[in-house]
Order: sequence, then structure tokens, then C-alpha cells
Amino acid sequence: MTDAQRLARLEAQLAELESLYTHAPVGLCFVDTDLRYVRVNERMAAINGRTIEAHLGNRVEEVVPSIADQVGPVYRRILRTGEPVVGLEVRGKLPSDPYNEHVWLVNHHPVRSPEGELQGISTVVIDITELREAEAATRQLSLVFMNAADPIVIEDLSGNVIDLNREAERSYGWGRDTLIGKPIKRIVPKDRHHQADDLLRRCLAGEEVRNVQGIRIARDGSRYDVLLTLSLLQDERGETVAIASIAKDISALIEAKAEAEEANRAKSTFLANMSHELRTPLNAILGYSEMLTEDAEDAGNEETANDLKKIHQAGIHLLSLINDVLDLAKIESGKLEILAEDFEVARLLEDVAATAEPLMGKNDNQLQIEREGELGSAHQDLTKLRQSLLNLLSNAAKFTKQGNVTVRAGREAVNGTDWLIFAVEDSGIGIAAEKQQQVFDEFAQAEETTSRDYGGTGLGLPISRRFCGMLGGDLTLESQLGEGSTFTIRVPAVLPEAEEEAPAGSETPMTPAAVSTLREAGTGRTVLVIDDDPEARELVERLLRKDDFEVVTASSGEEGLRLAHVLQPAAITLDAVMPEMDGWSVLRALKAAPDLRHIPVVMLTILDDKTQAYSLGATDYLVKPVDREALREILKRHAPSSASGYVLVVDDDAVVRETVSDALSTAGWEVQEAENGSAALACLDASLPKLILLDLMMPVLDGFEFLVELRANPEWRDVPIVVLTSKDLTEEDRRILSGRVEEIIAKDTWSHDQLAELVRRVTRRAPAGS
Ligand code: ADP
Repeated sequence: MTDAQRLARLEAQLAELESLYTHAPVGLCFVDTDLRYVRVNERMAAINGRTIEAHLGNRVEEVVPSIADQVGPVYRRILRTGEPVVGLEVRGKLPSDPYNEHVWLVNHHPVRSPEGELQGISTVVIDITELREAEAATRQLSLVFMNAADPIVIEDLSGNVIDLNREAERSYGWGRDTLIGKPIKRIVPKDRHHQADDLLRRCLAGEEVRNVQGIRIARDGSRYDVLLTLSLLQDERGETVAIASIAKDISALIEAKAEAEEANRAKSTFLANMSHELRTPLNAILGYSEMLTEDAEDAGNEETANDLKKIHQAGIHLLSLINDVLDLAKIESGKLEILAEDFEVARLLEDVAATAEPLMGKNDNQLQIEREGELGSAHQDLTKLRQSLLNLLSNAAKFTKQGNVTVRAGREAVNGTDWLIFAVEDSGIGIAAEKQQQVFDEFAQAEETTSRDYGGTGLGLPISRRFCGMLGGDLTLESQLGEGSTFTIRVPAVLPEAEEEAPAGSETPMTPAAVSTLREAGTGRTVLVIDDDPEARELVERLLRKDDFEVVTASSGEEGLRLAHVLQPAAITLDAVMPEMDGWSVLRALKAAPDLRHIPVVMLTILDDKTQAYSLGATDYLVKPVDREALREILKRHAPSSASGYVLVVDDDAVVRETVSDALSTAGWEVQEAENGSAALACLDASLPKLILLDLMMPVLDGFEFLVELRANPEWRDVPIVVLTSKDLTEEDRRILSGRVEEIIAKDTWSHDQLAELVRRVTRRAPAGS
């Protein structure tokens, strides 16, 4: 190689080095002993915010005066000692990027000539901002992990613990050192290993495992109910390397839930008992005042009659308050059922107006009813709608003096759904804007003084609003203090499917097809309805009665079969799901009996299993009050002949005995009374009654015990029993009564009409003594 060639090669290498130096991704520079820049690369120039040219030949404090204070002493020390200074961390901002702080790692090295003479200092500046940020993030994450309120354990793919946080240490009683490297199954009870494997498998398969209930076990054997959330931890290539599980301790919650449920049960029992206690004296008030009113009217004593009516009215008000409290309790425990029926909206309006009219007189208010267009018919829960409307009207009457109360009713189609709108407007005291939400809260009244001045419990509106919600609609309020209020009910004309909870354990009401099967069923007009669920029976019965059928119901398969033989009905409707003997067994039995196999049977389809438990309540009961005038009519038509035997009224409450006896004897029945079960048995010994009206809660021998005695005697067994109760029957009560009694009537709600009708019906089908 010639010298020229060698030279050329050296020059090429030098150029290469030069280029490397210039474009290196780290800041590089060289200053001479005078601290003048001899060499500066692009990155360094950028860090200093000057061009390369601006550096060369100039002193540090001239080029970057801002760092001269920092760098000057360091440079001078290196020149003095000849020692390098490395690993300096410097923070600052780039002139080109004044908003972000950077972190640089700075190294200074002295540079010597081959003879060892100090020639200057070379500096390397590396930007480590990202590295520091990543480190900080990791530190923070690890703090979050360590201090998280829930135990977190990280395991590797073979199920061994890699890490756990403080809460995990504390909860499970294992130290980090003792658990790390051990199988995670140490904190999972044996009976849950299977679940743990399953969750892990699902998580690895990409499924979300979030808040799954599981169990953890501590070192001392104590178990925790937990909600488990698993997440995969991946490395930078996206490979899963570990699994983190968060186990939120919910033991306390579960315990609290159990306690709350227990408390709720206690509350329900308390309410049922309390309602009994409250309703019992009310029976006396309602019964006597009604009776005395009639006597006074008969005697032409108008004034007394009017006073008595007020007592009766007050009693009814009190009853409605008690019922409000019960309604609320039932809504809260989800026990309130919705029962849709067909009705004419205009009729509802008239009905409500007639009921509300007397309320208006009290404060000299005028009631106006405005119908906007055709109202048509509806399929909704009439009772709840009526109750809500009446509540609004009675509020309007209460909070308005010498003013107007207007009910505006209309029907509106929105997106194919028909809505019924009832606006109840008054010109009364109004409600301040800030109280308008509040009045829908339980026990809330707009003014403290309200209840003093106007009475009331603050339950009407919350119940009404919840009713409207259950019916698929809403109740809203617009009001101006001092000018009046408008409460508006909007509900769909047809109860939305999902809202229509068919009575628990029961079936869809009869379809038109089913009704026509029955209609074609021949000359007989009696239909036997076999269903264990009282509401379902009532529903079917009502439907059939509308079609002029005579209906006899049976609350069990056995009873149904017995009645079918006796009655030879034109048709039978049959519930598929019933306790003891289910619909299908009944059907088999019907088809196997030569005298029954020709009778058409309509099976009513079943709901889901959930409601089956409820369907264990297998007795009939009635609840609706009916007015006394209608009662008269029916009594007149169906007054029994004198040969028809007596009705035995069994109740420890003399008032009930007296009012019931009065109602029955007015209708021409012979009545005997017994104040407890033993006395009733004595009556039976003497002669068989046509029917027994039976109270359940009595001293000496209560209703249930009486029933046992009664059914044990073959001669007495078939006497029909109607239970008269003021106790809200529990499931257990109903189960016990199942199949033993004909009807159950709630004491406060029976009307004379209903009672007489029932007696008529029941006695006609009763085989004994007829
Ligand atoms: P109650 O009437 O038994 O107190 P509600 O729940 O029906 O219970 O009503 C709650 C409160 O709302 C009432 O106490 C009253 O302050 C206010 N309120 C209801 N209706 C009206 C109305 N039409 N005008 C003015 N205030 C009303």
C-alpha cells in the first residue's frame, strides 16, 4: 500500500468517525483548556439551542450562559485534578421544547495528548427522560399494587405465587417470603380448587373473569367470601407470563345481606300482625256504623244517619291508611302483584269522579271533568290506576279552598303505543319548586305544617308514583307556589307484557280460543275451575262469569275430581302445576273415568319453576269490597228457602259475629254463632250447618285446629268452610288451609254482597245436607 493509499484510507476512516460524531443520537462536545468549544455535534447543539457554528471557538459562558454556573466549576475541577466526572444527572428544558422537562445523564472526561498533556474535556450527554419516566411509572404501579385495599396475588403459569400485596399478606396470614414460590392453591379451600382451575382456564382462553364469587382461605383456616377478578399479565412481546387475581372480601356484605333479609322478614311479619291488630277494631267501627246507618235511615232519622256515615267514612279512611302502609311494604318486598283487566276508560273516569265528588264539598271546590277525544278501552290494572287517581283528587281537594279541581283525560298514540293521560289540576296552595321532588318521597310533606293543617301521612304520592311505574308509566308534577298544581299520570293503555306478572304460580288468563272451547261445550253452563292459585281462579272465574257461565272452583286436583263427579260440569279448566296432584295427573284421572271422559278440558299452561313455590298456597280468598245496594239485589234474588239449614259463624270477636250474622239474617239465613272452635264443634254435634264461616285466630281452639277436628269426622268433613280472616295469610297458612276450606275472605274487605253471593255459591255445590 502506498503512502497515498494509506492516507486516503485514513481520511476515509476519519470522515466516517466525523460523521458518526456529528450525527450520534447523544450530545457530544469537546472544549479546550480555555473552555472554548472545539467540537460540537448536532444533538449537543440542539440541547444548547445554538448552531454548531455559534459554538466553535467561543467560550462556554458566552454560548450557553444559563449553564455556565453549573458547568464552569466542574470543568475547572477536571482541569485541576485531571479526574473524570461521570454519572451527573442534569434536569432542564430544551430551548426548542420549553414545556417538558428532560433528564440528562452527563459524563465529562479529560483528554490528554500522547505526551500526557491535558488538552481539554470531552462531554457526553444522554437523554434519559423516558427511562426515568418509565421507572417512575413502575414505582407508582408497585405502590398501588402494594397498598391496594383488596388482596392481590400474582401467580405464574404453573400456579405458583410470584408476588402478593400487603393486604393479601394481612388477610391470608402468610408473609411474602413464605408464600412466594408456593402454589396459589394454599389460599384456596380444597372444595374450591376445581373452581379456581376453571376460572384460570377461562381467563387464559380470553374470557373476562370479573367479580366472580369465590372463597379464599387464610393460613389459620378462616374462610372469606370474595369476588374474584383475574387479569393476564403480558411481557413486552405480548406473551402471557403471569395472572393477577384480585379477591375483594365480601363476607361482611353477605352477612349484612342475610341480616337485612331477616329484618325484612321480621318487618313483613310485624306488618301483617300490626294490620291485624289495627283492622280488628276497625271491623267494629265499619260494621256497626254501616248497620246503624241503615237502621237510622229506616227509622227516617236523617241527621243521625249522616253522622253515622261520617264515622263510617272516617273508618274507611283509616283503613285506607293502613292499607297504604301495607301496600308500601309489599311494593318494597316485591310482593305486590299487577292484575290487568279490560275496562272502558270513560267508566273509570265517571267512577273516580263520583267517588271524589263528596271530597270537593268540604273546601267548597268545584270538580270538573274534561274529556279530550275518545278515551276508548284499556287493559290495565284498574285498581291501582283508580287508587292513584283518587289519591291525586283527594290531595287536590285537600290543598285547594274555594277553587277548581279539573281532571283532564285523554288518549295519545306515540310510536304505535296508546297512552292514557290523566291530568289532575287544582288552583290550590301549590308546591314550591324545591319541594317538588321531595313530595314523592315516603312520609315527605311539602311543609312541616301540612300534616298539622291538612292531615295525611305523606304516603299517597310515593305509592301512586310507584304504581304508575309498575303499570309501565309515570306520575309527574308541575306546580307554582300559591297558584296550583297539576299532577299527570301517563300509562300505556295496554299493560306492557313484561309488567303483567300473571298472578304468581298461575297461568296466562284464558285465551279467546279457550273461552270458545268452553262456549261450544254444550248445554250445561257450569264450568269447573281447578287451580291451586286463588288469584288465577278468580281471574278465570271473572272471565267466565262475564260470559254467563256458572263457575265452580276447586283448589286441588282431588277436590276437582270429587266436584267433577258431583257436578258433571260442561267443561273443566285445569291448572298444570299444582302441589300434590298436578294437572296432568288430574287429566289422566278425568280421562280414565267413564262418566267424565267426555267433558272437555282446557289446560292452562305453566309459568317458570320459580313461581312454583308460591303456587303451594292453594286456597281461595276474596278481597274486593262491593257496595251494599248491589248486595241487596243479590240477596233478594237468592234468599234461601227456610229449609236450607243454618250458617255457623265462628269468631271470638263478638262484633264480627254480630255484623256477619246481621248481614246474613237480613238476607233470610238462619244463623248460629260460636265464639271459638270448641263451641263450634258443640254446634256441629247438635246439627249439621249448611256452611261454616270461620275465623282463624281464636283462643281455646283456633281455626286451624278446628279444621283438623272437623275433617277427622266423616260426617262433618264435607261441610263447606269459608275462612273469614283479618290476618294477611302467610304462605304457610295457605298451605295448611289448602284443600280444606272453600274460600278465605279478608275480614275488612268482605262486603255483604260478596258474602251472600259466596254463601249461595258454596252451599249449592255442597253435597252435605242438600
Ligand atoms: P299526604 O297527602 O298524605 O300528606 P301525599 O304523598 O299524598 O301524602 O302528599 C305529600 C305532600 O305533597 C302533601 O303533604 C303536600 O304537602 C304535597 N301535596 C300533594 N298534593 C298536593 C296538591 N295538590 N297541592 C299542594 N300540595 C300537595
